[in-house]
Amino acid sequence: MKPFTYERARDPNEALRLVGTDGGAKYLGGGTNLVDLMRERIEAPERLVDVTRLSTEIEGKPDGGLVIGAAATNTALAAHRAIREQYPMLARAVLAGASAQIRNMATVGGNVLQRTRCIYFYDEASRCNKREPGAGCDALDGFNRMHAILGASSACIATHPSDMCVALVALDAVVHTLGVEGERSIPLVDLHRLPAGRPDIETELKPGELITKIELPPPLTKRSTYRKVRDRASYAFALVSVAAEVDVTNGKVRDARLALGGVATKPWRAWKAEEALRGQAATEPSFRAAAEAELVEAAGLRHNEFKIELAKRTLVAVLCELAGVAT
Ligand code: SF4
Repeated sequence: MKPFTYERARDPNEALRLVGTDGGAKYLGGGTNLVDLMRERIEAPERLVDVTRLSTEIEGKPDGGLVIGAAATNTALAAHRAIREQYPMLARAVLAGASAQIRNMATVGGNVLQRTRCIYFYDEASRCNKREPGAGCDALDGFNRMHAILGASSACIATHPSDMCVALVALDAVVHTLGVEGERSIPLVDLHRLPAGRPDIETELKPGELITKIELPPPLTKRSTYRKVRDRASYAFALVSVAAEVDVTNGKVRDARLALGGVATKPWRAWKAEEALRGQAATEPSFRAAAEAELVEAAGLRHNEFKIELAKRTLVAVLCELAGVAT
């Protein structure tokens, strides 16, 4: 590992000043991804600025929403009473990720910015456009079972690994930041970029910009959940996951907020499925039609074609569960 300096920021402005904009420094949350990347020599910052002493608070808002400090741990988030009662999909998504030990360390801000677990990205001997722009992508013709079927490009097919972000995207979360030009807010659904020709540029954040908090609007309904399909029962990334919040009134879907994980290059808001569901009878055929609409542009590769049908079936199963439809 390349030598680096370590400093702890006492407030967001100090963090911003210490990191600067020259690209040589990184914010350090729990370090559960960044330290791994440094050990593997994928990341080599000269300076680390610890931001774990910044806001860890989770507070209710007058409108019924919530504000989550970026330094809150994943464990604190999942255990918070308001999260468990008002946003059960978010508590479930966080608990579906990693292990208890990692959740104790990982922060919400760090979770949002964690990088892909594409095996070729971590292997210095492989070609990877995300690690080295223009180098090529060995996943395209390699073992791509875990890779994306939505949002991919010929430059990169890596999935975004977060469970938490899938729920946050479904919940219309907004990310608040502090940068050299001041504060701004970005809908989480717009924070992560599609890879297109530059998979190395992963978010809309500017150099040195710090995530300070995440804001949730009031929930649509308390009927929400997160289901993760994976190769083993714990400590595995999603093959497919679904975050869903559905308001069913008099047998019809009044509104729905849906997102998919494990299948796309960013946390994937299922806008097409939502549109297809609104006003429809809450029945298995209408749920299947919504799933078909969402996956219409999905493109499988040699080893991940199965994800297309798996995503459809998982979405239908979750919608049936939330709507109380027998299957
Ligand atoms: Fe790199 Fe993306 Fe290709 Fe993986 S899929 S090797 S991260 S360019």
